[in-house]
Amino acid sequence: MIDLKGKTEEELSDFFISTGEKSFRGKQLYQWIYYKKESDLSQMTNISKELREKLKKIAFISDIKMLDRQISENRNTEKYLFELSDRNLIETVLMRYEENHSSKRITLCISTQAGCALKCSFCASGLTGLVRNLTHVEIVDQVIQVQKLLSMSGERIGNIVIMGIGEPLANYDNLIKAVNMIKYSHGIGIGRKNIAISTSGLVPAIKKLAHEGLGCKLAVSLHAYNNQIRSKLMPINNTYPIEELLEACRYYQEVTDDRITFEYVLIKGLNDNLSGARKLAKMLKGLKCIINLIPLNPVDHFPYSPANILTAQGFLMEIEKYGINATLRNERGRSIDGACGQLRAKHRGEFLTE
Ligand code: SAH
Repeated sequence: MIDLKGKTEEELSDFFISTGEKSFRGKQLYQWIYYKKESDLSQMTNISKELREKLKKIAFISDIKMLDRQISENRNTEKYLFELSDRNLIETVLMRYEENHSSKRITLCISTQAGCALKCSFCASGLTGLVRNLTHVEIVDQVIQVQKLLSMSGERIGNIVIMGIGEPLANYDNLIKAVNMIKYSHGIGIGRKNIAISTSGLVPAIKKLAHEGLGCKLAVSLHAYNNQIRSKLMPINNTYPIEELLEACRYYQEVTDDRITFEYVLIKGLNDNLSGARKLAKMLKGLKCIINLIPLNPVDHFPYSPANILTAQGFLMEIEKYGINATLRNERGRSIDGACGQLRAKHRGEFLTE
């Protein structure tokens, strides 16, 4: 049986031709799956009943299964737990941001791996290690399933951030395929500039990505102003230290001319001091960038706590003095286990046997 979800419009057309049908059926099916978010062949009324019956014998349309949906009290954050066909679990998070008085911008944060190999010392995703890469279908399906749910209330996903569980650039080929599908205008159709990929800093993959022509935004998890602190927080820094990482970022910018976002989680007493802010600003001089300061979302049993708000604001002002753009983001979703990997960690005991 062939899974029709995950195929491009061209691949679907080729599939129909190979079964003796007309190629335009590919376009029809593509619209059903990605635009109308339909996975039941019986509902596809512009395809003859006869052809639908024929299709059912040789193909199917896969769905990841929504096991849990949590909505924060103010409705601004939602979190979904999905079960994959092999019973692995992944998380997807939705955030509603006030745009103006009447509308909210909806951002969906999607995962690229089940578990994560990176073991960043403040992040719950690494607790269980890497289980496996997600297929490109499983990455794209998070968007399809959530959009289908939102359609019922007339809402639409405006932005995708690839910042959920896993390291996107460690699942490179599936990531690229997935992003191309998410932005394809005949289907899901989210604009390339409204898609951001976040990486812990895999240097060779950043350089490769520069030439991919995706046109979406790159975010880099920096989190420290020197190698000593960064290695403590992110073991990947032992492989790709800050100097190499920033060199790759400069290369990426030369090729794409895109502004890079640096994520910086503020941790009390560790990376939140003013002299650190100055070092950070100097380090990034000459790069077209913005620093996203994020108060740490504390994870049970981890030794870190978030920087206090005044310290965070002081840090922000110090960076801005040096002419670097920065924002201080509100931490979100704490009441619904919003920090990366926390929902999955909670359900693991119930659903996973390994
Ligand atoms: N592996 C990729 C993408 C997944 S993590 C990366 O490292 O960028 C997405 C972002 O969430 C990263 O910036 C990560 O550092 C941040 N993050 C993880 N745990 C967090 C926590 N407890 N509090 C705040 N941010 C966290």
